[in-house]
Order: sequence, then structure tokens, then C-alpha cells
Amino acid sequence: MSSLHDKKMRSTLHLQKAAIESAANAIFITNNRGAIEWVNPAFEVLTGYRATEVAGENPRILKSGEQDDQFYRDLWRTILNGEVWRGRVTNRHSSGTLYTAEQTITPIRGDDGGVTHFVAIHEDITAQLESEQRIAHMALHDFLTDLPNRYALDSRLEIELNRARRLGSRVSLLLIDLDNFKDVNDTFGHDAGDQLLVAVGQRLKQALRDIDTTCRLGGDEFAVLQTDISSRKNAALLAERLLRVFSESFKVASQEIFTSASIGISISNRDTTSKSDFMKQADLALYRAKSEGRNTYRFFEEDMDTEIKRRMSLAQDLHRAVERDEFFLEYQPQVGLGDRCIVGVEALVRWRHPQLGIVSPTEFIPITESIGMIDEVGDWVLRTACNQSKRWQNSNLPALPISVNISAIQLRDPHFVSKISHILADAELESRYLEIELTETVLLEAKQSVESTLETLHALGIRISLDDFGRGYASLDYLRRYPLSKVKIDQSFIHDMGTNFKNATIVSAVIDLAEKLNLQVIAEGVEPAHQLQCLIDEGCQEVQGFYFSRPVSAEEFEELLVTGSDRIRAYGT
Ligand code: C2E
Ligand code: MG
Ligand code: MG
Repeated sequence: MSSLHDKKMRSTLHLQKAAIESAANAIFITNNRGAIEWVNPAFEVLTGYRATEVAGENPRILKSGEQDDQFYRDLWRTILNGEVWRGRVTNRHSSGTLYTAEQTITPIRGDDGGVTHFVAIHEDITAQLESEQRIAHMALHDFLTDLPNRYALDSRLEIELNRARRLGSRVSLLLIDLDNFKDVNDTFGHDAGDQLLVAVGQRLKQALRDIDTTCRLGGDEFAVLQTDISSRKNAALLAERLLRVFSESFKVASQEIFTSASIGISISNRDTTSKSDFMKQADLALYRAKSEGRNTYRFFEEDMDTEIKRRMSLAQDLHRAVERDEFFLEYQPQVGLGDRCIVGVEALVRWRHPQLGIVSPTEFIPITESIGMIDEVGDWVLRTACNQSKRWQNSNLPALPISVNISAIQLRDPHFVSKISHILADAELESRYLEIELTETVLLEAKQSVESTLETLHALGIRISLDDFGRGYASLDYLRRYPLSKVKIDQSFIHDMGTNFKNATIVSAVIDLAEKLNLQVIAEGVEPAHQLQCLIDEGCQEVQGFYFSRPVSAEEFEELLVTGSDRIRAYGT
């Protein structure tokens, strides 16, 4: 019986020993003075020490120095009291590397109740910690550039704004946006675009003090948080230094790419409490830097706030403007200089805002574009203009081509051609009486699809004119490349033709070239008589401008058509 019991005991002990030995966690046993008496194989793997090497040693051989003396004093006090100690400890492997373990130390009492041994179990959590750290890092860093991201900036901003308020110091936030990133992506591909962003991030970081934070907020937008500044001057100097970062080209995908950036700056003061307002201020300043020529920086000014609030409320109201019938068209005659007859008419949209009165298209068209409503508004304009033109023809007034301004976004719509065809058919207007006006930017970003849209429109008999010619980047080559009928010389050239010799030369060159290419030329924005004279001298055939008539209502335009050129002449004087 007793031998059976012994046998059973031995087998149980054997099993327990096997279990401990094969346990994944490192286990070691010390006596009550801390000398190691036994370790399992997992201990050897975790610590790098063989069982024979550590026998009789104190576990302090594993010490990494990551925990202070107090930590060990608390640990010993707990276990000597006979209580279990649980905690996280970072130890040193025999090779010198560190590992972190969840450690449980259990005191074992002898028959007399005194502590005789300690059993320590180490669960290696190094990999788990590393992945936790990686996740924490990813949450606060941008995957592409590894710079701190928007969330990191957000929390840093909170801390720094509070600190600045407490200490009476100031913080500046610089938002940096690349000027032509879309072109880089389109021309060189997205991989090159990504590489450029990485390179820009590195250069920005190098240009800064260690205490300033560079972040990537997304897309081609970066931010720099500058702390402890004493005046605007500090921020301006930093902005200049950051802009200089772009003066050298970037080597990307074995290409030399030049890019520039615009910077918007906000500076905190004692009243800066909201970090989102602070960000918005920098954003408004950036918007201003962009619209005032790019490759430059602007500080936030109070008036920008008013401007953006108006923009936002216009954006809001635009959504209902079509259904509320708040748009209307005005018509401006285009006059042939030979016999001073009206040879065409441009339709110009206006918005009668219920509170703000008449809003100019230069203000609301860009907003309409940015909120994705230009197709709806553009359709309304096209339909209204075509119907009006047909109504005049039906009244036996001279049949004239009507010009309608088309935004780049409208032209990108794959259904644009069929839309126009429907509108013409519904209005029963012949296509030769419709002219669409495109600005240079449309052609600048022209893709294959835009080119073929233009070819189709031309084939349908719709006239295409190039508006605001000379204002932007369009080269004379465009006049050759696209199926144009007419070029409209930008007002800026006409306005100071008399005083600016260069402008006069450009106007005369455009007129010459257009003649050779069999294109009509019209000068826009002709106001005083001397401008008209200059244009006549240069051989210009057509003009449009306040000199003859401002844009007028349909009824007034009808009168102009009826009373003829004498009336037109009188209108301008
Ligand atoms: P635009 O197509 O170049 O139109 C000519 C602009 O110059 C009009 O301004 C017109 O009123 C103005 N103008 C004409 N003659 C003179 C002059 O002698 N002196 C001066 N100082 N200005 C003159 P408006 O109506 O404010 O339109 C501005 C711009 O808004 C247009 O420039 C066009 O780009 C855009 N736009 C107007 N209607 C539409 C539309 O229906 N759709 C789209 N996408 N854009 C439109
Ligand atoms: Mg126009
Ligand atoms: Mg124009």
C-alpha cells in the first residue's frame, strides 16, 4: 500500500517536474537569502545563463540598471513579509541586451511557517512591448516620412500653448504647403511624389532647432511648431529659412525636381486658448500666401477671419441658390471695330444673395468649384444663355454667337459634350451660335480626355475661345495646338497699353500671330477712348469693355440690339 502510495507520489512529482521544466515561462527558485538553487530550461533561454553558471548566484546578476534601488527594496520587503510580489522588470541578458518580463515572486514557507524559498516566474513580454510601442509610434507618426503626425501636433500644441500662457512666452505655428505637388505626382508618378515628401520632411527637420517640432499633417502639408519666440521676427526668420530649403532641387527617382512652398503663420498671445482656432489662423494665412503668389509666407491678420467667415457662409448659402432662383445672367456686347456693330455677346453670371445683395462671380465661382457645385450652376448658366439667345433670334434680332464661361471642372465631366448637345437641342439653338470661353488653366492641366472633348465640341460646330489670354502661363503654342476660334486678350494688358510699352508689344504680337493662325482676337476690358485708339492702331478687330457697354440685363441688351451701334457708342460715354 505504502509502496503504491510512494509510486503515485513519485509519478506526480515527475509530472510536476516535467511541467515546470517544459514551461514556456522562465522559472527559478532561490533560498531565502536569494541564492539561486534551481532554474528551468526556459530561464536559460531567457537570460542566456546556463543553470550551472547561476547556481548559488544572486538574481542581481540579471540587473539592468533600469530600475532604481527603491524598486528592489520594495520587492524584498514584500516577499520577506511572505507576500507575493508582481510587477514588470527589465533585466539584462547575458549578451548585454535587455528584455522585459512580467515577474511573479512567491515565497514558500517551510514546516515551521518561516519563508525558506522564493519561486520566481518570468513571462517575457519584450515582443509584446515592442509591438505596443510600434503601435503607439504609428499612432503619432506619419507612415511615409516618420515625422510626428496631426495627432502628435495636436497634443504638443495643447501642451505648448498652456506652457506659453503660464510663462508669458509665445509659440508660433507655421503651416507649409508645397506649391506644385499635384504636378509632380501627375508628371513623375506617385512614387516620385512620395519620395519628394520624404526628402522635403528631412530637409525641413534639418533646418530646425531640436526643440521645434516638424510634422506632416497629410498630403503635401507640413507644420512646424516653434516655441519660446520673442517676436514675429523669429517666426519670419524661420519661415525664410524654411523657404530657402526649396531653393535647391530635390533628386527624386533620378530626376531633378524643383518645388516651392507657401507658409501660413499664426503666433499665440495671452488670449490664445483654442488650439483649433490657432490652427485655423495659420490655415487662413496659408490660404493668403497661396493666393498672393506662392513661394512666400504670410502671418495671420484679423481681416482674414472675416474673409473666411464670409466664404463659409457663402458656401453654405450656395447650396440652395439654384433652387431659390437667385442666379441671373448679364450680357456684355462684343463690338466689331470695322462698322461698330455688335458681333457677339458674353453671358456673365451674378448671384442675388438675399442678405448680401449682388455677389460677383469672381467671388462665388471659385467657392462653387470647391464645394462641387459648379456642374449644377454651370448647367443653369448654359441653359439660360442658350434659351435667351434663341429668344432673341425668335424676336428677329440679329443672330449672334453667345459666349459662356466654362470652368475647368465642367470640362472634365465625361458627359459634358452630351450635356451641351442636349441643352442646344432643348433650346433649338444651332451649335454655331454657342461659344464656350475657357481660361488658360483649363489647357494647362489638359489631359488627353480634355483635348478630345475640345476636338468633339469643335467638330460639333461649337466655337471655343481662350479667355484671359496672357494672364497665366499659356504659351503662344496653345493657339496652335487647340481647336480655338478666338483669343481674348486679358484686361491687364489692355489697361496700361498706353503707358507700358512691353504690354503694347505683347498685344501687337498676339494680334499678328492670331491673324496668321486664322483666329479672331478680341480685347477685353476696354474702358477709356485712348485704349480703343491703341487697339485700332494695332489692328485689333473686336473689343469688349465698359467703353461700349457694361454687362446689362437681357432687356437692356435687347434695346442695344434694336437701337444699334449709335446707341452702343452713346452707352459708353
Ligand atoms: P471674364 O470671363 O474674363 O469676364 C470679363 C469680366 O470683365 C467680367 O467681370 C466683366 O464685367 C468685366 N469687364 C468687362 N469689361 C470691362 C471693363 O471695361 N473694365 C473692367 N474693369 N472690367 C470689365 P465679371 O462679370 O465680374 O466676371 C468675372 C469673371 O467671372 C469672368 O471673367 C469669368 O471668368 C467668371 N465668370 C463669370 N460668369 C461665369 C460663369 O457663368 N461661369 C464661370 N465658370 N465663370 C464665370
Ligand atoms: Mg469670359
Ligand atoms: Mg476674361
